[in-house]
Amino acid sequence: MSITTERRSVILVVEDEASYQDALNVGLSVEGFDVLGATSIAEARLLVAARNPDLILLDVMLPDGSGVDFCRELRDTSLTPVIMVSARDSELDVVLGLEIGAADYVTKPFRLRELTARIRAVLRRPPTTVNDELIAFGALELDLSRRTVTKNERAIELSRKEFDLLVLLATHLGQVVTREVCLDTLWWGLELADSRTLDTHVKRLRQKLEDDPGLPRHLLTIRGVGFRLDP
Ligand code: CA
Repeated sequence: MSITTERRSVILVVEDEASYQDALNVGLSVEGFDVLGATSIAEARLLVAARNPDLILLDVMLPDGSGVDFCRELRDTSLTPVIMVSARDSELDVVLGLEIGAADYVTKPFRLRELTARIRAVLRRPPTTVNDELIAFGALELDLSRRTVTKNERAIELSRKEFDLLVLLATHLGQVVTREVCLDTLWWGLELADSRTLDTHVKRLRQKLEDDPGLPRHLLTIRGVGFRLDP
């Protein structure tokens, strides 16, 4: 008989609404996480220092300040990924427009299943030191924290998914990223998308990034495997 003990990831939930705090505490514990709770930024600051959580779920509106400011503070002091939780889509739009270095965003009300899938996807990502990281190659420049892309210094409009896909490929520049990893990262492993949807996103990205989308130089399909972004 063998017993394997796997280390449980520690999630710090920074949330002042008791109903969400309770639901997340129970729900995430059931999903196999160790959950720490903080109802204010001051409390969160102490827990980050004392317990070094693996991931922080951070509400935008907190009694002693803004989650946005706290996220910025964390990016200067810690590598722990942050998922921002906003109460409204309009609030999310504001947060998305700022460069705060969050790993992902969710809007209340969210489904526990979607949230845990996103948490797992973020935890699987290789650690970064991103605050204002730039990835530049050819005529393209990606600003990860501003979520902007320019080609020959002209801004290119990308959808959220297109940007996420580009970042995934750009952070593995010159390496093949499998279709499975793309689907998992973009749709958090949920069966919302099939391979064809992924191909549609790749096609749109090519149309926006490549000089000749029919003869791509950067965004290459590796048949039967996945995609590779070449510098
Ligand atoms: Ca709140």
